[in-house]
Amino acid sequence: MADKMIPLADLRYAAAMPRVPAVSVPPIGLLGDTLGRPLRDLRISVTDRCNFRCSYCMPKEVFDKQYAFLPQTSLLSFEEIARAARLFVAHGVRKIRLTGGEPLLRKHLEVLIAMLAELRTPEGDHLDITLTTNGSVLARKAQALKDAGLNRITVSLDAIDDAIFRRMNDADFPVADVLEGIAEAQRVGLGPIKVNMVVKRGTNDDQILAMARHFKGTPIVLRFIEYMDVGATNGWRMDEVLPSAQVIARIAAEFPLEPLEANETGETAARWRYRDGSGEIGVISSVTQAFCHDCNRARLSTEGKLFLCLFASQGHDLRALLRGDYSDAQIAGAIGLIWQARGDRYSELRSEGAAAPSAGAERRVEMHYIGG
Ligand code: SAM
Ligand code: SF4
Ligand code: SF4
Repeated sequence: MADKMIPLADLRYAAAMPRVPAVSVPPIGLLGDTLGRPLRDLRISVTDRCNFRCSYCMPKEVFDKQYAFLPQTSLLSFEEIARAARLFVAHGVRKIRLTGGEPLLRKHLEVLIAMLAELRTPEGDHLDITLTTNGSVLARKAQALKDAGLNRITVSLDAIDDAIFRRMNDADFPVADVLEGIAEAQRVGLGPIKVNMVVKRGTNDDQILAMARHFKGTPIVLRFIEYMDVGATNGWRMDEVLPSAQVIARIAAEFPLEPLEANETGETAARWRYRDGSGEIGVISSVTQAFCHDCNRARLSTEGKLFLCLFASQGHDLRALLRGDYSDAQIAGAIGLIWQARGDRYSELRSEGAAAPSAGAERRVEMHYIGG
């Protein structure tokens, strides 16, 4: 029906038309923003649709049958995504994460992965290509994803108890199917696998230990994410955030832990390992310990808007350039100008009390659209 096809998100999320420099300087991979942060990580949302209705992301009351998801023509095509990705790589991006919505709902995603797997850094290295999924159709798709060149995978799983999991995903989806997806991903070699659990106090915090017990002794790295005030629809409240320090304390009371060094700069998770050598866990403290100072992530939305922060309310309309009469050099030049002007550090401002969690929330971009 025509009325369902109105691309509401186009209107909802303002996007500036990027400025194309008169003279394009070829990218040298050394771009820095106003806080000196490099551009290393590109997250690409390949669909705004999802078969789950996690209340912290796509609450059922808002994302119901009437909700106008983007029409197919608004989505970046695989060719457009691959072209944009190539220009980002020239600017220094080394890691690409496909996300959404539920990325595995995008038809023929393995074709896009194969295109991205062909890209090389200026030094001739392969990129690190990864994907975040709710795992619902992973058992069926893992082999094709691996064959196409996907390196690793992160699976979101908020509970190991079936009843709690079905409630969290609000689509009555059974936990057994996600576990089967994880097992298949392991079997085909999409490791090391990470499992992300968003912790909501009073909703699934009683699953922290159960989840730790389940994955302890496996190569899977379980990571606990603080529930964030992202978007405008999840009714976020600080008292539903369980600080990561408490997550660690609860686990350490049963299984002694010791901290590990970060793998790389810009890593979002603080790493811990079980003292008995039976595995690693991580905590992502986006609320209580902001990590904006080395945030090197850019996000490309489903319809090709570039966002410089998860909490941004404005994007930059790269699709207009990709579909316009612009050369690669011009588009790369525009991306360079956008990154060089970046000063976003929302979580730090929130911690310093300079940004109220509700400030501008009504205009803030939604997680399923921008990608987590
Ligand atoms: N559908 C895929 C999935 O769930 O893995 C990929 C997209 S989802 C938006 C990416 C990640 O964002 C998931 O791990 C999800 O749990 C997390 N996320 C969504 N809303 C969140 C919130 N309000 N606070 C913290 N994490 C959130
Ligand atoms: Fe879907 Fe992922 Fe959002 Fe849950 S977190 S509603 S699985 S996009
Ligand atoms: Fe990066 Fe924005 Fe998150 Fe800070 S709040 S870590 S700048 S995405």
